[in-house]
Amino acid sequence: MASYTQSIQNLMNELSLLPGIGLRSAERIAFHLLKQSPADAMKLAEAIRDVKTRIRHCSICFNLTEQDPCAICSNGARDQGLVCVVEQPKDLLALEATGLYNGVYHVLLGRIAPLEESHPHDLTIDALIKRLESGSVREVIMGTNPTVDGDGTALYIQNLIAERFPTIQITRLARGLPAGSSIEYANKNILADAISGSQKM
Ligand SMILES: [Zn+2]
Repeated sequence: MASYTQSIQNLMNELSLLPGIGLRSAERIAFHLLKQSPADAMKLAEAIRDVKTRIRHCSICFNLTEQDPCAICSNGARDQGLVCVVEQPKDLLALEATGLYNGVYHVLLGRIAPLEESHPHDLTIDALIKRLESGSVREVIMGTNPTVDGDGTALYIQNLIAERFPTIQITRLARGLPAGSSIEYANKNILADAISGSQKM
């Protein structure tokens, strides 16, 4: 039986490792790339290289950024004393899209989910505590998703903060969001309500 050349096979193998891409799709994409002009096909390779070489996590908030600190942390017009804690960069983007939040963020890069082997030390909680030790933060908004794990993560961090920094006010963003939903997919109006209606925990 005839088979693909090694380089086509390699491309198909790599493509099939991407989420949602099966062998059939990998084959279709590989042949699409083969048909493209070298310049067009290389755009994809360059885009992948760029994101892996230029993008890093902000050393303050762990958002994805090309400059460190990120544009939000280094923006003097934003309220650096108000920190919204979110699970992932995409949650930050959803909140930013409302245009209503003028504080800064802290991205956990996950949530506490014991069943998925995701524990507090896997997140950026230590960095958050160090950040709070600097004394410049007066309020923390828990912006984790309104899911069992998201709520558990918020509670864990809330207790940690309340114990060590009794003067920092803690509020919960997701009270206005439907239980089990995700910030990433919430529409702008709901998020706007959640931001303006965040409640003391
Ligand atoms: Zn930042």
